[in-house]
Order: sequence, then C-alpha cells, then structure tokens
Amino acid sequence: MTQAATLSPIPFIDLGAQRRRLGTSVDEAILKVVNHGAYVMGPEVFALEQALAEFCGSKEAVTCASGDDALLITLMAKGVKSGDAVLCPAFTFVSTGSVVVRLGATPVFVDVHPDTFNVDAASVVLGIRKARELGLRPVGFIPVDLFGQPADYDALEPVCAEEGLWILSDAAQSFGATYKTRKVGMMGMATTTSFFPAKPLGCYGDGGAIFTDDAELAALLRSIRIHGQNVEDKYDNQRVGMTGRMDTIQAAVLLEKLKIFPDEVDARNRVAARYDAALSDIVDVPLVLAGCVSSWAQYTVKLRGADRAEFANRLKAQGVPTAIYYPKPLNQQGAYRHYPVAGNGLPVSDRLAGEVISLPMHPYLDETLQDRIIASVRAALS
Ligand SMILES: *Cc1c(COP(=O)(O)O)cnc(C)c1O
Repeated sequence: MTQAATLSPIPFIDLGAQRRRLGTSVDEAILKVVNHGAYVMGPEVFALEQALAEFCGSKEAVTCASGDDALLITLMAKGVKSGDAVLCPAFTFVSTGSVVVRLGATPVFVDVHPDTFNVDAASVVLGIRKARELGLRPVGFIPVDLFGQPADYDALEPVCAEEGLWILSDAAQSFGATYKTRKVGMMGMATTTSFFPAKPLGCYGDGGAIFTDDAELAALLRSIRIHGQNVEDKYDNQRVGMTGRMDTIQAAVLLEKLKIFPDEVDARNRVAARYDAALSDIVDVPLVLAGCVSSWAQYTVKLRGADRAEFANRLKAQGVPTAIYYPKPLNQQGAYRHYPVAGNGLPVSDRLAGEVISLPMHPYLDETLQDRIIASVRAALS
C-alpha cells in the first residue's frame, strides 16, 4: 500500500456508500413524485406515516418539516406559554431548549449521567423544585436520547408522573433504538425525531416526525403543521399553526431508506461493539443500559485526561476525522445562559463538554477502515 493510500481521509459519515447500496430505487421514487406532481401532502407522505407507525409500534405518526418543528408543533399543541417551565438537559443540541424559549416559556436545564450522557432523574427532581421556587409552573419535561441511546425512562417516568409533568421524548438521534420492551417512538406523551441527513435515518434534506398513541393529540398536531386549519373547512383556522409539512419528495426518499434501516441499525451496533472491544482499555467507551439497543447516531468516548485538541490533531494527521458533540452545554451559551438550572449548577454537563469526542460512525464503516481508526486512536494516546 502506498503512503497516500494509507493516509487517504476517512469520512465521518459515508452517505455515498449508502447511496451505492440503494442503487436507483431512491432516484426512481423521487422521479415518480416529480411526475405525479403532488409535491405537498402527496400519497407518499401518508404511506410513510403508516410505515413509520408500524415500524415503531405507535398508533399515530405525524410527519413534519424537521426535528425542530416536531418539538415545536408538539409544544404548541400542549399550549406551552409564558409562565410555564419545561425541563430539559443542557447537554444536547440547541433545538431541545430553543423551542421552549420560542413559545415564551422558561427552560430549566437539568444534568446528565457521566457514563450514558442521558438525563439524571435526581436532577429532574431538583429542576422541578427550582422552577417552583422561581414562581414558574413546571408543565413538562423533554428528555433527549443522546447519541442514539434512549434515556432511562423507567427512572424518569415515576418522577414526572408524581409531579404531573408530561414527557416529550426528543428522539432526534435515536430513531431505530430500543428501550427494554419499547421501541423509540413509544415513549412519553409523544416522541419526536429528525430525518436530517446525518441522523440514523436521514432523508435528502430536512424532515421530522412525531409519534403518539393519543389520537386527539395527533389530530391537533396535524392541524398545527398546516397553519392550524380545520379539517372540514380549511379557511377556518381554529388555532395558530405553521407551515410544518414534510415535502412529498422527502417522504418518498424515506420510504425507500426505511427498507434497509433495520439492517443499518444492526451494522452500527457491530461497529460500536468492535470499537468497545478495541478501545475500552484506553478510553471511556459509551455505556449502554442493560436491555437497551442504541441506534448509534454518534460513538462518543471520553479521554482519560489526555489533551483533546492534541488527540484530534494527531488523528486528523492520519486522515481520521473526529467531532465534538457538544463543546458547550446550553447553560453556557449566549442565548441560554440566563435561564435557570437545577440545583446549584450542572457539573456533569460542564465537565463532559470538555471531555467528549466522537469517532467516525456509520453502517458502512468496513473492518479495514475501522482498524485504521482504532490503530490511530491507540497511537495518538500512546
Ligand atoms: C438534530 C436534533 C434536533 C433537530 O432536528 P432537525 O431536524 O435538525 O431540526 C433536535 N434535537 C436533537 C437532540 C437533535 O440532535
């Protein structure tokens, strides 16, 4: 092997490999939509909703324009407003907190477990107490299934039930994962996901979905995503809504990709298991709870005190990309740092932001390339 071939850059995510596997099926599905002309709310949208509901076992699936809109539409349906507090982790993507702020409500940030990166139920208790002390009405909680692993719902649900809070599961990163006997899509009052291209199931643009067993809530969600329209008389808008629909072309893409998705989740788990076996002696590998299956949106490790920037540079020199999710928790970001936090601060989130680093992870990472990544990680830490 030549030096150049050895050092050719490895992609962080390889959507090209997936495209080659899919052959012409997606192209044909897109062309079909282009020709039939029902670009908005065409038949593929309804076919996808049925397929998604069947996939995760929820009664209703409502597609929408993004994972961010999925959260926003659901909070709008719940009538979240000024004076309400909605709890969410600080160690997450910005959408989880920004949707709360956009409706005039107050996010109360809670802390996470250092080994799973997911919300700590004890911090939720403190967050609810903090909201009440501030004269806010705690109405709901948005746990995040970070990096593809479901949050620990068995620990979170009793706390929320006791305090009368609904749970809206932000599963933007965990579609395809399983929490004990439940597939993602069956958590809480509703579960939302994202089909952004880099998520476990991605489309060719933006897309999202909301899952629920509550038919009344689903009807509200369907109305809000189309301007709040009334089903019987579409120019009699019953409530405030938005343009939150999924494009028919994206639904057509997802219908094709859903066919290979279970196999892709298996492949991601094989990649994760190989990383675990090869790296657990030198870095902290992610902990997956017993009985759970992650969909591995990211494979994120913690360096045991090694300099992260130096580590990333050494890997980069070997053609191995890394990413940091997330360098700043929401409680440290300009638009969010004035909002309340549970207890006296979020020490775990603050610490993780300085420690975590994600390695290339996708279903088409073959063993040869993965071995090169593993060797580079070991060399960078030796
Ligand atoms: C990606 C993501 C979102 C937003 O999804 P989009 O489709 O990009 O709007 C929300 N929450 C989390 C945790 C995410 O990772």
